[in-house]
Amino acid sequence: EDLDKGLEKTKTGFFDNISRVIAGKDSVDEEVLDELENVLITSDVGLDTTVKIIESIESRVARDKYVGTSELHQILRDEIVGLLAENNNKDYDDYVLPPVPGNGPAIILVVGVNGVGKTTTIGKLAHQYKQKGHKVVLGAADTFRAAAVAQLEIWANRVGCDFYSKGMYTDPAAVAFETTKYAIDNGMDVAIIDTAGRLHTKFNLMKELSKIKRSVTKALPSAPHQVLLVLDATTGQNAIEQAKAFTEATDVTALALTKLDGTAKGGVAIGITDTFKVPIRYIGVGEGIEHLQIFNKRAFVNSLFG
Ligand code: GDP
Repeated sequence: EDLDKGLEKTKTGFFDNISRVIAGKDSVDEEVLDELENVLITSDVGLDTTVKIIESIESRVARDKYVGTSELHQILRDEIVGLLAENNNKDYDDYVLPPVPGNGPAIILVVGVNGVGKTTTIGKLAHQYKQKGHKVVLGAADTFRAAAVAQLEIWANRVGCDFYSKGMYTDPAAVAFETTKYAIDNGMDVAIIDTAGRLHTKFNLMKELSKIKRSVTKALPSAPHQVLLVLDATTGQNAIEQAKAFTEATDVTALALTKLDGTAKGGVAIGITDTFKVPIRYIGVGEGIEHLQIFNKRAFVNSLFG
């Protein structure tokens, strides 16, 4: 239900536009495909992915000679499920911890630029893990931003989980190392470590992230067990640019797409996972502590097409 509500704007934009494209038309022709291409691009599906979808429908039209417009919704649904399935082949329908080889806590590094909803997503995720009975610590390794450490602590208090910080302007890699140690020493099930979202240059980003990653690995050789990139769905093409920068800078293993409730451009989910071959794990559908959902490709497509 939250998902339907969260995707309402995308759904209305997407569905209504496609209905407009095929209104008064019996068969899928050149003109329908051109207009469909526009709809997909305006929904921020992304150029490459849009072309892929259009070409696939084109070859189907070429093969079958006639494709009725009444079939277009179903065809698109199948195409999108197919694209999502390639990179989201595993459907987690619960807030499971990333697998940890051997013993010890799961270590999750959270990356992304400022303002995308990184802190909120960490708080929501911590809440879900806590609800499952896991022992959670949040590590404040975004030490550059005045509000970041304080905000994270507020979330830790709200959730009722542990919090590790060395204050502001301290070495983020040291905080990441010590949070991991803290998690081991205190029998935590999971440490969620916030990192600085400074995207000044790609080289610096890469240097910073690899330093943090190395220090976590030093504290626990199998860590990190997940590198979660948080992206803001309302920023469309910017989200795609950020995904490019971060996937080049480090091994991103999962995506969280926030603010889907605030945009008609939820199509960005399809383009990003297709382009960067990283699974979407979570979607944010509101500001509240409960407004984080596990991404499920079938539920997502069902919500899109109503
Ligand atoms: P950070 O700078 O990346 O840590 O961003 P914050 O976590 O502070 O979030 C920035 C703003 O986005 C805040 O006002 C959040 O309440 C809001 N926000 C985060 N996630 C969502 C979401 O899924 N939906 C909506 N509507 N707002 C969100």
